[in-house]
Parts: sequence; structure tokens; C-alpha cells
Amino acid sequence: MHLSRLSLFACSFLFSSVANCADSDASRPVKQIAIIGAGAAGSSAAYHLHKYASEDDVPVNITIFEKTAHIGGRTLTVNVHDIPNNPVELGASIFVEVNHILFNATKEFALPTTDPGTDEAGVLGVWDGQSFVYTQDSESWGWWNIAKLLWQYGTAPYYTRKLVHETIGTFLKLYEAPYFPFRSLSTRAYQLGLVKITGVTGLQWLAQNKLDGPFSHHIVQTSTRVNYASNLPYIHGLGTMVAMAPEGAMAVAGGNWRIFAQMVYRSRAHVSLNSTVASITKKPSNDPESGSPKYSIKTKRTGAPDDVEAEAYPVSFDDVVIATPYQFSGIDHDADVIPHPVDSIPYVTLHVTLFATSYQFSPAFFNLEPAAKVPTSVLTTLGQDEEAKPGHDGAGNAGFFSATLVKVVTNPKTHNKEYVYKIFSPDKVTPEFLSRLLGVQVPETFTRDPSAGADGEEGEAVLDPISWYYPAVFNPYPQKYPRVTFQDPILGDGLYYTSGIESFISTMETSALMGMNVARLIVDDYLGISHVDDVGVDEEALREQDRLQNVLAGQQQKTAEGYGRPVEDAGEL
Ligand SMILES: Cc1cc2nc3c(=O)[nH]c(=O)nc-3n(C[C@H](O)[C@H](O)[C@H](O)COP(=O)(O)OP(=O)(O)OC[C@H]3O[C@@H](n4cnc5c(N)ncnc54)[C@H](O)[C@@H]3O)c2cc1C
Repeated sequence: MHLSRLSLFACSFLFSSVANCADSDASRPVKQIAIIGAGAAGSSAAYHLHKYASEDDVPVNITIFEKTAHIGGRTLTVNVHDIPNNPVELGASIFVEVNHILFNATKEFALPTTDPGTDEAGVLGVWDGQSFVYTQDSESWGWWNIAKLLWQYGTAPYYTRKLVHETIGTFLKLYEAPYFPFRSLSTRAYQLGLVKITGVTGLQWLAQNKLDGPFSHHIVQTSTRVNYASNLPYIHGLGTMVAMAPEGAMAVAGGNWRIFAQMVYRSRAHVSLNSTVASITKKPSNDPESGSPKYSIKTKRTGAPDDVEAEAYPVSFDDVVIATPYQFSGIDHDADVIPHPVDSIPYVTLHVTLFATSYQFSPAFFNLEPAAKVPTSVLTTLGQDEEAKPGHDGAGNAGFFSATLVKVVTNPKTHNKEYVYKIFSPDKVTPEFLSRLLGVQVPETFTRDPSAGADGEEGEAVLDPISWYYPAVFNPYPQKYPRVTFQDPILGDGLYYTSGIESFISTMETSALMGMNVARLIVDDYLGISHVDDVGVDEEALREQDRLQNVLAGQQQKTAEGYGRPVEDAGEL
């Protein structure tokens, strides 16, 4: 800790409050803070840094470096038919009312929210690769269509819902003192008793609560598949509870990224888009009063040829927040910058395919009679006797995790009504698959070559079953295998990290929570408030937690092949 921080610390002892101390030091130097990544975590870090620093009279300059041309990271939209103002979510699509940071932000920024279902009435079905095991008369993402569920599954839905509420209630303590802010997520997870839930699989957690019957197989597993591309034996209990998150799913009209764009705007940060951070190095501080390192950052224009050298950014930084999974960031660092390697964790590889068509799902694909009504949105689970597999093979006989109707649009050329569907699958969707799904021949090129005439070779009208097609592949979230330790938010003196929370829970909200947490830690550090209690707590228990994590990691290592493709192989990303 450097001297100015020490003197502030002394100051907070001498004066009756931190605010007094802050007021007394009008000449305090401006702190330079870099944030790498403008997703939910980085945007929230910037917004809360500005907020806390203003409240506590700490002068800060925030610079955000973002590799892409947009703010929001994995929260992004694409325009159907490439028409501006016709957006659909390609990445993170929903949040819920208990997501306090996001929900409050929509109120504060006056951003209108919508129900993420479409306006079109329809049926939501759960398919096990052979038949529909459950259907409900709504495309709402909520599972709590209680009357119907109780009729089919007895009391299991009621008790599952109760368990979800209790677990989320415990998790929400992380937002408040004395649990907020936290220097160690592992410690907090232990203190709150949440490691008992993250340390076991969803299946084990449900079994412990006597909730592992048909409801868990048909509904809870469907939810873990659509939300985390995982079957119940391969996702931890907390991830399972979050996938069944309480009611009230919503999305921001025009795109959830708007929350993060507002956060960045209100943070008054300097934003450097298309700017890839290539390296972080420590340099001696310019401030002779300060014993703390300053950080130097080199950036490169995104897309610049390999032989173009990264350039040093002209400002050096007191604090750096890495707000992106380190293993994918491409950031180099000297050995003294991050003393302990950042935990590298397996991430899911997920293909997300959006397309517009005037066709609906074919009954034949789902083994239904020709005239049968097919659900407009289909989520999937495993067959009754099907073995649950992890990773890439997890989709099982169904072959995909979900195929949902996300929007109804008018084709700008034909003026026909069209349906926009979104498919989550472990493999790239093929024209053959779509031909079977829609019951019509889909060309090898998915959409017809626009330069081709309106008629076919023999003068027949050519059908364009797919008028717009948008495929993408993501590492959307970690494979949430059971674990009991999580990468800490502090990597070194003045160096912070947000993505450790992703193997605990990965949502826009939890990334935003980690952004808020590091913002509080940084401002408190300037104010001399150290939160050392985190590290001192129950050392013996923490050692036991580490031991248990090693055991879990060892178990997972033994079956590495079973856990899907290693992260390094996701070269197509
Ligand atoms: C298909 C999909 C569906 C999802 N569904 C949901 C959902 O419904 N609800 C939900 O809550 N969550 C959902 N998620 C998860 C959610 O998107 C993430 O948990 C969350 O957005 C992560 O935010 P983040 O800020 O931590 O990371 P990111 O959003 O990944 O942000 C990191 C940013 O850092 C930038 N960056 C990386 N490296 C560098 C570098 N070297 N220099 C500069 N910038 C860099 C990246 O470009 C990116 O903008 C989904 C994700 C995907 C992909």
C-alpha cells in the first residue's frame, strides 16, 4: 500500500468520518483508472466508480479500453433483415426483477422494458428427442405456470420454487454490508453457506432436497440446458437454482446493451473503442509520495495486421480493472504484474443461429401427425433413459438446446409476415437440419443468392424459405462444474479482475455486481478502508476449501475428455 493511501488511512482515524477526511484533502491527486472491457462488468465498474468517487469526493479519471466497436460485450443485438431499429438479442437476452443493478438501472435511465416472449400467442414445448414431455400455453420464459405444473408434477414445482427463492435470497446478501464489498468471493461464498450448493451438482443438490423426480428432469434440466447448455449432473447447484430464477423475466426494448451504454455515458469515462489492450506492465510511480506501482498499458487498433506493434498509452494508471475473461483477452503481462496465474476455466462453446422465415416448425421433425399443432418455441431435455453427457455431447438425442420464436416481423421485400427463430446448439446448424425442422428444402447457402432472379430455371417461382440468416459462435459462460473456490477480484496491488464470478454465477447482473464491487474496493482503498477482514477470516476453513477445490478439480481432470472440448480448441471464435 502506498504512502498517500496510508496517510488517508491515518486521516480516517483522526477524523470522525471518512467523509470529513475526504473533504479535508482538496489537493488530492487525480487517480487514473483503466478499465479493460466495456461489457456488463466494465460498464458497471465505470458507472459505480464515478458514483462512489463523486460521493466520497475522490477525484478520478476513468479510461475504458474496448476491443470491439460496441459497448455491452456479450450483450449485443443484431438487426433482422439488416434493417436498423429491428433488433433482436444475439447474446444475453433476459434478466429478472431480483437483478437489482440491472432492474434499478432501467428505472434510473428510463429505459423501457418488454416481456422477452413474442406478441404472438403460441405454445412452449419441452422435447426429449422423441416426444413432447411438457407443453404450456405461453412463450413466457418463466416456468411458474403453477396450476399447470402442479397438475402434472404434484408438489415438486412448489418446493423447487421455494428452494430457488431461499437460495437467491442468500445470494442477494452479497449486495449489502457486511458482505459487500468483498475482496474474496471464495470467502463470501463460504460465509454465506453457498459453497455447499456450488460444491455439488444440480442433480445432487435437488436430490439432497428430495426434488430429483420428473419435474427436475423435464423442467429444471430444460432450464439448465437453455440457460447454461448443461445437463443437471454437469452444472453446480447454484447455477441450477439461477437457471430457475424467480419470475419476472424482462429485456430492455431496443437491446439490453442500452443499460451498459448508459452506465458508460454517465461514468464520464474516456472511451477508446476498437482498442485492444495487448499488454500491462508495471512502471515506477511518477508520484514520489506513492509506494504503489503505476501501470502502463499498450494497445493496438483492433484488426490491425500482426506486424503492427502495440503502442504505449500516454497515461499511466494507478489502478487497472480487467473486466473480461483473462484467458480469452490476449493480454500479455510481466511476471511481476500478476503474481499468481489467473484461473483458467473451461467455457461452453455455443452456436447461436438466428433466421427469419415464413415457415413454422414441421410436425414431422417432432414425430407428430401431419396436421398436429407444433409448439412455436421448443426447449429440450434428455430422453427418459438417455445418459446425461457433459460439454459438446450434452445436447443428446435432441441435438440442440433450444429453438425459440423471438420476434414476428414483416419481410421488407415481400411484405409477408415472418418468424424470427433463435437456435442454441453445440454444433453449427446445417441446411439439412433446417430443412427437416421447417419441412422445406433450405438451400446449401441458407438464404438464396440475392443476385439470382425471382424465378427458377424452369420458370417456376423459387421459394426462399429463409430470408435472413445470422449465425454466431460464443464462449457464453463457463461449464459450471462443481467448485468451491473462485478467482479473487484482486490480482495485485491496484489490479482488479471481474470475471472470477463467472464460475460462481454468470449473468449480466453478476458481472455488473462484480464491477460494482471492484469500484467500491478501489474507492475505499483511496479512502484508506482496507476490508482486510476478508483475508483474515477463518483461515482453517479457507484451507479446507482449497483442499476441497483441489479434490473437485482432480475429479474433473480425470474425466477431462468427458468435459467437452478443451477451451484452447475453440479456435473458430
Ligand atoms: C448467447 C448468450 C446468451 C446469454 N444469455 C444470457 C441471459 O439471458 N441473461 C444473462 O444475464 N446473461 C446471459 N449471458 C451471459 C452474459 O452475457 C455474460 O455473463 C455477461 O454479459 C458477461 O459480461 P462481462 O462484462 O463480464 O464480459 P463481456 O460481456 O464478455 O465483456 C468483456 C468485454 O471486454 C472486451 N475485451 C476483451 N479483451 C479485450 C482486450 N484485450 N482489450 C480491450 N477489450 C477487451 C470484449 O470485447 C468485451 O466487450 C449470455 C451470453 C451469451 C453469449
